[in-house]
Amino acid sequence: MNTSIFLDYASTTPVDPAVAKAMMGCLTLDGNFANPASRTHGPGWLAEEAVDIARHQVADLVNADAREIIFTSGATESNNLAIKGALTANSDKGRHIVTLATEHKAVLDVFTAMESQGYEVTQLNTQANGRVDIEQLRSAIREDTALVSVMYVNNETGVIQDIAEIGNLCRQREVIFHTDAAQATGKIAIDLQTLPVDLMSFSAHKTYGPKGIGALFIRRRPRVLVDAQMHGGAHERGFRSGTLPTHQIVGMGKAFELAGEHLAKASEAIANHRNTLWQGIQDLPDIQLNSDSEYSVPHIMNISLGTLDSQRFLPALAPLALSSGSACTSATMTPSHVLTAMGINHDYAHSAIRISFGRFTKASDITTAIEKIREVTLAFTQADLQRQ
Ligand SMILES: *Cc1c(COP(=O)(O)O)cnc(C)c1O
Repeated sequence: MNTSIFLDYASTTPVDPAVAKAMMGCLTLDGNFANPASRTHGPGWLAEEAVDIARHQVADLVNADAREIIFTSGATESNNLAIKGALTANSDKGRHIVTLATEHKAVLDVFTAMESQGYEVTQLNTQANGRVDIEQLRSAIREDTALVSVMYVNNETGVIQDIAEIGNLCRQREVIFHTDAAQATGKIAIDLQTLPVDLMSFSAHKTYGPKGIGALFIRRRPRVLVDAQMHGGAHERGFRSGTLPTHQIVGMGKAFELAGEHLAKASEAIANHRNTLWQGIQDLPDIQLNSDSEYSVPHIMNISLGTLDSQRFLPALAPLALSSGSACTSATMTPSHVLTAMGINHDYAHSAIRISFGRFTKASDITTAIEKIREVTLAFTQADLQRQ
């Protein structure tokens, strides 16, 4: 039995029981297990129908056409397909590409890969509130800029970028615009009928669906050209070959349907959790909120605790399961690239922790979190004082 208090929903979410149930119906002989590409028999048609329903469920959450949704293995693959595929398919547009230093590695590492293939990369830092300065972005776009990629909701801070404004700028300059929305679905309403976005990446497992499945929105009007990265059978309109995993797709569809139903109500409960937690700890010594309160989702809260080292005190916070704001990418501890790009100083970046809430967070979890964070922070501060 898992006795942790899970406050790390930004890393992944548990699968909703209704999603697990739908998935289990697509595995065994008595279920919907057939290959959705089998056109010669009833079981195949049934599987194809289940995939079609799921595609509509995903499209409906973001107000897209189901024909614009391509299933992939997750947001990492969607980002790769979007960025690499759009660049090679639009090679006449130029070889300059723009992103933010606060992006997820699943975008930054793709940009690095493109750089090694001769593309020129501009990586912008953000303002102190975590948002890109639109004027800075405007001046970064050149005649030969082919693509801009800016994430919707940041996974470390919860900061929301102004996707409509960035998209309009890209439209004016005829630049392809991709956004990684892995942390946006289920947290904010998304309307692709009005948002000027060409390509949008999704992941199921940040939204109470299973790991290993995601999708890419590829706009049909105006049509965005994308080259496939995976060949073999021309599934998914040729954009992504491979036998469709019916159970994963059905799980993602159900999860996105639930996300739409929960959106307003869950967000209110989560905002309450966040406010209660902050009120309970905001008087701690040298505490700082790194998530801008005006421009972030309440689901993700990033705080720094002065000169304390989060790597040292996080283990002491058990049974709270939460994440450090620092990505330990190697033996040498580097503080979070996101916080650094926001201009947060070294000590505060090192003491950062990310607390993220979700559908199953209870008021009692927050009470325990407040007690535990207070107790451990005060004990560590005391110990540091004595050492001085
Ligand atoms: C989790 C996450 C990803 C990676 O998604 P996978 O489906 O695990 O590949 C990409 N971008 C952001 C912003 C994320 O939070």
